[in-house]
Amino acid sequence: MDYNFKEVENKLKKLWEKEKIFRTNLNRKTGYSIDTPPPTVSGKMHIGHAFSYSQQDFIARFRRMLAAQKKENIFYPFGTDDNGLPTERLVEKLNNVKSKDMSRAEFIELCLKTIKKITPDFMQDWKDLGMSCDFEKIYSTIDDNSRKISQKSFIELFKKKEIYKKEFPTIWCPECQTSIAQAELEDKSEKSLFSTLNFSCDGKDLLIATTRPELLGACVAVFVNPLDKRYKKIIGKKAKVPLFNFEVPILADKSAEIEKGTGVLMICSYGDKFDVEAINRHKLTPRLILNKQGKISEGKYSELKVKEARKKILEDLRKDDLINEQKEIEHIVNVHDKCGTAIEFITTEQWFIKILDKKKKFVELGKKINWYPKFMFKRYENWVNGLEWDWNISRERHFGIPIPVWECSKCNEVILPLEKELPVDPLQTKKKCSKCNSLAEPEEKVLDTWATSSLTPQIASSLFGNKVNIPFSLRPNAHDIIRTWAFYTIVKGYLHEGKIPWKDIVISGVVSLGGEKMSKSKGNVVEPKDILEKYGADALRFWASGSKLGNDLDYLENDLIAGKRFVNKLINASKFIFMNLRNYKPKKVKLINLDELFLSEINNLIETVTENFEKYEYSRAKSEIENFFWNDFCSNYLEMVKWRVYNGSKGEKESALFTLYNSLLVLLKLISPITPFVTEEIYQNYFRKNEKEKSIHLCEWPRKITVKNNKKMFSKIMNFNSEVWKIKKERGISLRDEIKIKIPKELEDYKKDLIAMHNIKF
Ligand SMILES: [Zn+2]
Ligand SMILES: [Zn+2]
Repeated sequence: MDYNFKEVENKLKKLWEKEKIFRTNLNRKTGYSIDTPPPTVSGKMHIGHAFSYSQQDFIARFRRMLAAQKKENIFYPFGTDDNGLPTERLVEKLNNVKSKDMSRAEFIELCLKTIKKITPDFMQDWKDLGMSCDFEKIYSTIDDNSRKISQKSFIELFKKKEIYKKEFPTIWCPECQTSIAQAELEDKSEKSLFSTLNFSCDGKDLLIATTRPELLGACVAVFVNPLDKRYKKIIGKKAKVPLFNFEVPILADKSAEIEKGTGVLMICSYGDKFDVEAINRHKLTPRLILNKQGKISEGKYSELKVKEARKKILEDLRKDDLINEQKEIEHIVNVHDKCGTAIEFITTEQWFIKILDKKKKFVELGKKINWYPKFMFKRYENWVNGLEWDWNISRERHFGIPIPVWECSKCNEVILPLEKELPVDPLQTKKKCSKCNSLAEPEEKVLDTWATSSLTPQIASSLFGNKVNIPFSLRPNAHDIIRTWAFYTIVKGYLHEGKIPWKDIVISGVVSLGGEKMSKSKGNVVEPKDILEKYGADALRFWASGSKLGNDLDYLENDLIAGKRFVNKLINASKFIFMNLRNYKPKKVKLINLDELFLSEINNLIETVTENFEKYEYSRAKSEIENFFWNDFCSNYLEMVKWRVYNGSKGEKESALFTLYNSLLVLLKLISPITPFVTEEIYQNYFRKNEKEKSIHLCEWPRKITVKNNKKMFSKIMNFNSEVWKIKKERGISLRDEIKIKIPKELEDYKKDLIAMHNIKF
């Protein structure tokens, strides 16, 4: 009979919800806490989610049972991330509105309403996967409470002087028209023209190569290397900019590489971050010619976008014969990770959190956290060491959490709201200057979404009256957001609490198909919904447990089939066992030698599996249980005790029943974090009437069973069994047929079971 996983999974999801199995129990001490990553409601669950969320749920379910041993509770909250561009777009689409046509407050109101409507459906995907979060109280990163905590964080850090506002050339996306942080940059390889242009000095040509001729009008200096003999004589003189004909100083600066291009460097405001530093270093006055739309703002080329201006200027240079040489090159440009647009440096007023002065501290804190796998710490450390800017936390977007500040235009006094006013939208509230009493200007910018997501431990804990302490035990984190989510949470944890936000961080890998990254454009995407439909949640989770921590995992249908087979075998073995245990009541009995031996093997398994789960090595834990279940339990032990269950004396039978009941229950508990549905089904059908917990997932993690015999002999018995089976197979006789074979002396104690099992005659 086939196991109807669909029916069972639906039934059990309802049972867990009705019985509130995963409700946070604050009457008990929190023994383990998880800083669950909040998915965004605007997307549906993809295979990468199914993979990484399954893995964190293995840990949660294991820890829940381990905590139960100590009469403790775990904290496993759930929330959604609704404070970014994807949500803005979705809410606009669903309600057929444009956020810019509404006030920010109205739009946030609409978001909250929409999210409330769509979240239950969205959450169903996570429940279908068998996630055991507390789904009763959830947060959204845009809800009142999150806005309040996020704004409170800003105010606190401002008061601590960890936040400052500065006019500064910041990384700017002309497409999204907002400043962005270093962490949001991606490298993109692009074809470009490398043109050598005729600058001049004292009427003689001075050749300079550049990829950005559109910035000629923003040129403020040219650099030559002080060791470059070719240009020694012109240091201190002026260079004439082609086409524009104004003059700029020729300065000695070691950053001009003698070997690169012509050895002369054009410095513009701002071609890249190098220009920003160079202009600061030499205290040059910038010529700002780019506006926030990424267009030239003055002169002949005004209103042209960067790339159009580049084309037009090259044409004009060519007309005037000012291009000496030109070649096509492929080079790396920095683009915005959300839209792929090349970034610019635009001078605007922005809010920053000071991080550059604390790099050492952040590396030190990172070292205090246990990284799984270990090498991921290196990625974090490299990122921190490579930081070049403070954390820009302001964004020019309309939707988002408002920066809670007013500023007096007369005396520049910054006015903050009172805590009881939070969450606040400065655009909706008028404030007077506390010093000169004139009306203050509201700040229009919003906070970087990471400024809020970096507070998930505080937000989650606040849902439960702040009774869950920071540091949390665990942060599950995707590898591509180490430099954002992980890093910024460490920053906030340190600035607010002076400590690390969690003790362990587990970095998950990526799912591929045939070694290739799945992507819509390649058409090689596997949908979790289809897998759940075809194989069920347990099989999907069984597959997800197959990769070593932090490693990528290839999607192989065979792994799903193996998962389904394992689930079916669990059901069938349990059915078989309980045909004989129907009215069994657990009680202490005198154990037969073989049963003692087998239970001591079970004890070893408990030890190995516990150790592996504790180290987040769920893949090792799974394969240990899987092997034991198929080989030791089904192929060997079950076969060896059948005769005693059917024909043994009362004592022989009782010992077998005790061992079957307890070893199956242990096996189910050990694998229940990975396959929660089938194990619950078996528990409810057969064990529940004798056991006190209403769900297998609330049971205590198995402890060792007391046995006297702990000789490691079981593998020798299994070897003997294999040998007999092999001989019978070679002779072409059935497994029940008689055989003449000598039982090794060391297996003397288990003779009776072996003789009966193999039908051995002497
Ligand atoms: Zn952008
Ligand atoms: Zn004032």
